[in-house]
Amino acid sequence: MANSKHYDLVIVGTGSGNSIPGPEFDNKSIAIVEKGTFGGTCLNVGCIPTKMFVHAADLAHDIADAKRFGVQASLNGVDWPSIVSRVFDNRIDPIARGGEEYRRGPRTPNIDVYDQHATFIAPKTLKTGIGEEKWIVTGDQIVIATGARPAIPDFISDSNLTPGVDYFTNENVMRMPELPQSMIVLGGGFIAMEFSHIFSSLGVEVKLINRSDKVLRVMDEDISARMTEIVSDRYETHLGRLVSKVEKVDGLIVATLDDGSQVKAETLLVALGRIPNGDQMNLEAAGIELDGAVIKVDEYGRTSAQGVWALGDVSSPYQLKHVANAEMRAVRHNLLHPDNLKKLPHDAVPAAVFSNPQIATVGLTEQQAKEAGYDITVKIQNYSDIAYGWALEDSTGFAKVIADQKTGKLLGAHIIGYQASSLIQSFVTMLAFDMDVRSFATEQYWIHPALTELVENALLGLDVDNAQ
Ligand SMILES: Cc1cc2nc3c(=O)[nH]c(=O)nc-3n(C[C@H](O)[C@H](O)[C@H](O)COP(=O)(O)OP(=O)(O)OC[C@H]3O[C@@H](n4cnc5c(N)ncnc54)[C@H](O)[C@@H]3O)c2cc1C
Repeated sequence: MANSKHYDLVIVGTGSGNSIPGPEFDNKSIAIVEKGTFGGTCLNVGCIPTKMFVHAADLAHDIADAKRFGVQASLNGVDWPSIVSRVFDNRIDPIARGGEEYRRGPRTPNIDVYDQHATFIAPKTLKTGIGEEKWIVTGDQIVIATGARPAIPDFISDSNLTPGVDYFTNENVMRMPELPQSMIVLGGGFIAMEFSHIFSSLGVEVKLINRSDKVLRVMDEDISARMTEIVSDRYETHLGRLVSKVEKVDGLIVATLDDGSQVKAETLLVALGRIPNGDQMNLEAAGIELDGAVIKVDEYGRTSAQGVWALGDVSSPYQLKHVANAEMRAVRHNLLHPDNLKKLPHDAVPAAVFSNPQIATVGLTEQQAKEAGYDITVKIQNYSDIAYGWALEDSTGFAKVIADQKTGKLLGAHIIGYQASSLIQSFVTMLAFDMDVRSFATEQYWIHPALTELVENALLGLDVDNAQ
């Protein structure tokens, strides 16, 4: 027999969901359900640890590249266990533990924590548990913030098809006990790009296999094409190829491709994108509709079931932490102010890929802007044509900006190159505040010879009708 308890609010998932209860909720009874590690994907197996590994990889990469700058340096080795320990033992794991202790402890007495997978058994009714104890929890309001999981094709996950083949995903690859000599990376999206950079820079022979003939194919075509050239120079790539079989032969992973060729490596990393977790919660029992794999929500975060909300990767068109957080803030407001609902903020959403070089993007691609019928002006500003780009000896980076020729409004910006993830912010600001490209470029100082001259020059290069 299961125990049962009713709450004012039930939150499933402790990524962005865990940030909902603040002091405004102190008078509400709350259940938090988390089947995995407190803090969710970003903290434990996503954004934050990957960037800590990326920085180590950038250092190793820069040392290997130092000779170009007249600096004699050599990489003497990579102490992988110490990187893993610094990232997880010293930083990530204590934060995750602390977050869970806080929610279980006396400082949030109105909150109960459940630690078993939650599934709906009826409207607003979830089956979960605490350790071995079975619990049914119900809530006046329920927030589903259960995120997404790595997509694993059947030919890899089905042990009948791939006997003996172990594979890694983002969930365990950063805790490997030692660096392998070689790694097949399956995928060509942002996770594949970041891990390929991490492992190749740390000395692993990376072999990238991707179904599309280019990497980052959803990006602006010029960015995707440039990154495809760069990775093809840097690692072994098999682009435009499908894997037909994976097997283990003499201790190595052997992937057979659709052209009959074989790729061999010690390890396999599957980085093929992320599937929202709504399909694992028996949503039909609660009257919650899915749109494909994504929970359907309206502009305020409401699902099709009254009193049930969803946010983050499980329901969002964007699988990004800053979006999950922004949606969380909107849903938090809406829970507290049902008569004054806030919309999920989905305008001018930027994204970055922390590869080397970095890539960052906001707004429309050139192709999207054309399809939308805009009369566009486009400027591609190379790093190699600004002074700081000379310091970097950069030959591949550029910013591409797209504006509406008639109105002088920015439509999109895309950067590939050093610190793209920070440089993009000027363009995010312009879009968020609906600024005119020419006045943004001319009515403020730009420090000389900082990298921000890339942004200034890109904007000045646009051919807009209202140029002042
Ligand atoms: C390798 C990698 C790198 C990334 N890097 C970036 C980056 O640099 N920048 C960026 O913006 N985004 C990045 N992301 C994406 C980002 O991590 C996600 O967008 C974000 O974490 C989503 O937050 P969320 O709260 O929706 O879900 P999550 O953080 O995934 O939280 C969901 C939680 O729900 C729990 N859960 C799931 N189902 C149930 C259930 N039925 N019952 C109980 N608990 C359940 C899970 O265990 C999990 O803890 C990265 C992702 C990956 C995988």
